[in-house]
Amino acid sequence: MPSLYYLAMVKKILNIATFLVSANLCGQTSELQKEQASSNYDQAKSKVVEKFKNVKPGKFGEFVPGMKTKIITTKKIIALTFDACGGPTGSELDTALIEFLKTEKIPATLFISGSWIERNDSLFRQLSLDPLFEIENHGFSHCPCSVTTNSKYGIGGTGSVSAAFDEIEMNARTIELYTKRKPQFFRPAAASADQACVAIANELKEKIISFDVLSGDAVPGTPADVIRKNILKKVKPGSIVIMHMNHPERNGFEALTEVIPELRKQGYEFVKLEGRSLSGKK
Ligand SMILES: [Zn+2]
Repeated sequence: MPSLYYLAMVKKILNIATFLVSANLCGQTSELQKEQASSNYDQAKSKVVEKFKNVKPGKFGEFVPGMKTKIITTKKIIALTFDACGGPTGSELDTALIEFLKTEKIPATLFISGSWIERNDSLFRQLSLDPLFEIENHGFSHCPCSVTTNSKYGIGGTGSVSAAFDEIEMNARTIELYTKRKPQFFRPAAASADQACVAIANELKEKIISFDVLSGDAVPGTPADVIRKNILKKVKPGSIVIMHMNHPERNGFEALTEVIPELRKQGYEFVKLEGRSLSGKK
């Protein structure tokens, strides 16, 4: 029997699929999308749960072995990444920031959670249609990914192999419904996971992305000037910068309006993560 949690998740996906049916002229395509989202989920999950039943959690944090933190390159390229965390206080969109990226033609990788998508499905659809942006996985329920009860910043971790699977795979399938492309990268909530979760993500063909430049935009009240300095001080060829796109009341956008021209002056270009060779802690 499928678990109640799974049934609730499928219901959520089907609700999103129903939205797509109503927005899509071709009903057949959407039927396929629905099927794609829910087919083989239980079987895939059982396989992973069985394979990892004796897994040791290993280290937990933002920089555990197996996570990717930078692009392998000698060129002056930088990946700007923006998380959309969702939840009661994290489900808005910093439209000024997104418009700025579009106006300046800055490619970016957007890590988006299932709960953010659920509250913003038409905005999400618009973002996913823009070739400037690469849509990646920020987890279905926005939990740090751990097979134990590890937590970060007071957010409880997924807690089991089964829940880690749901956190990664349910959101990957949700994203695929919209984009027709399965995410290749997963950034857990708080960029934190244990080594077991890194292995589970790899089993699901997703690499876990951390960062090497912490912008600090997640801390409420951080002035734009501090975010600007955090980025400019740390950035180097191949850097992955972590920022957020879901808090218009914070200062990420204001900081970027100064950071971008400065980095361009230094000869940097901005790239998405897709197709890049990545490295991290061994
Ligand atoms: Zn987040």
